[in-house]
Amino acid sequence: MNPNNMRIGHGYDVHRFDTEHREEKPLTLAGVVLADKMSLLAHSDGDVILHAVCDAILGALGEGDIGQHFPDTDAKFAGAASGDLLQQVLIIMDAREHYIVNIDITVIAEVPKLTPHRVNMISSLANLLELPEQRVNLKATTTEGLGAIGRKEGIACAAVVLLGGHA
Ligand code: MG
Repeated sequence: MNPNNMRIGHGYDVHRFDTEHREEKPLTLAGVVLADKMSLLAHSDGDVILHAVCDAILGALGEGDIGQHFPDTDAKFAGAASGDLLQQVLIIMDAREHYIVNIDITVIAEVPKLTPHRVNMISSLANLLELPEQRVNLKATTTEGLGAIGRKEGIACAAVVLLGGHA
């Protein structure tokens, strides 16, 4: 890999929990629908992990952010499956002749407990990103009860991605 073609990107996203569980908007993280009875407020499906991943890839490419590419004022993206948005971001990456070397993700949440879902989420991410699972790392932390996340008001996610260039 030519080090001159390596690019690093960072993504960060937060979504607030809805006041009640909505059947039509199940909690979806990393493309996995969780059975936990909670929903995130969002124009799309609210998949905070995939949004951070999209922003990390777009950031590495110098392509702005997810809001620029998929505006939440556009009815076309209402209830959008974030996996579809990610597919479009990967098309942009392919067009720019880059590929993912590895990705490291940190979810910041007090609830739900993510440990039981970790294996499924990594498998889903590897599948969506067309990467071996060894190149996808997923961590979860709480804020020890501090702040909005600590008060269980929402979920945040940070992602860092390294891209290599085919050229
Ligand atoms: Mg978002």
